[in-house]
Amino acid sequence: LVSREVKPEDTVVWVGGVPVGGGHFAVMAGPCSVEGPEQTLTTAQAVKKAGAHILRGGAFKPRTSPYTFQGLGEPGLQILRDVSREVGMPTVSEALDERSLELVVEYCDMIQIGARNMQNFSLLRLAGKARKPVLLKRGMAATVEELLMAAEYLLAEGNYQVVLCERGIRTFTDHTRNTLDLAAVVAVQRLSHLPIIVDPSHGTGKRHKVVPLARAAAAVGADGLMIEVHHNPMQALSDRAQAIVPEELAQLMNQLPTILPLT
Ligand code: PEP
Ligand code: MN
Repeated sequence: LVSREVKPEDTVVWVGGVPVGGGHFAVMAGPCSVEGPEQTLTTAQAVKKAGAHILRGGAFKPRTSPYTFQGLGEPGLQILRDVSREVGMPTVSEALDERSLELVVEYCDMIQIGARNMQNFSLLRLAGKARKPVLLKRGMAATVEELLMAAEYLLAEGNYQVVLCERGIRTFTDHTRNTLDLAAVVAVQRLSHLPIIVDPSHGTGKRHKVVPLARAAAAVGADGLMIEVHHNPMQALSDRAQAIVPEELAQLMNQLPTILPLT
């Protein structure tokens, strides 16, 4: 079902009122984690002003260490929903399991399935039954074929509103958190009609690499970006090394029209 042979024309995925794919370049931006009402509102207003289309913010966080900040849970989703109504942006947030999936469906416009859960097939089946679009991130050791088969689980359950996301894979290099595989964008677009966006934040893990790789993703023909933004990165409760400030996002947004391939 994900194959271009079955459906030659690009799929457009609607998130709230925002189109992703089929020539619609969408920027999802916001904090790694919802930390509180003030932080979320401040960042949301700034990314909206910069021109981002969709607000991101995690409430259920898949952290490497169980002793670090795990997200605010349902109260975090409430904050995200309130802020989204105030600034007028649809939202995307990660679901980790069945219970958080139900909550994300209730509070958000798009369900994020993270890299660590890309092959959580029971979670994929549940998200496939949900009536909300899904952002499916590539596992950090998954091939393009495995990513597409994971997406197939969603479509097989009846959910055709799926956006894929390249977020970097594990390699031997250590100058970067992950190795952002921009060729995967081209590979996916050849094989599938589903939109694919790029996350240079988790893809590089380093603030100074985020904007250059975001520009590269736009140039290569990605259908959008996911970028972590914090108004005070040094105070961020998660992923502080890769958060850019709103001014950097605004600069990037200004550059995009000259970079995007002509359609
Ligand atoms: C995220 O986007 O918040 C996240 C945890 O990303 P990933 O699943 O790609 O690591
Ligand atoms: Mn993060």
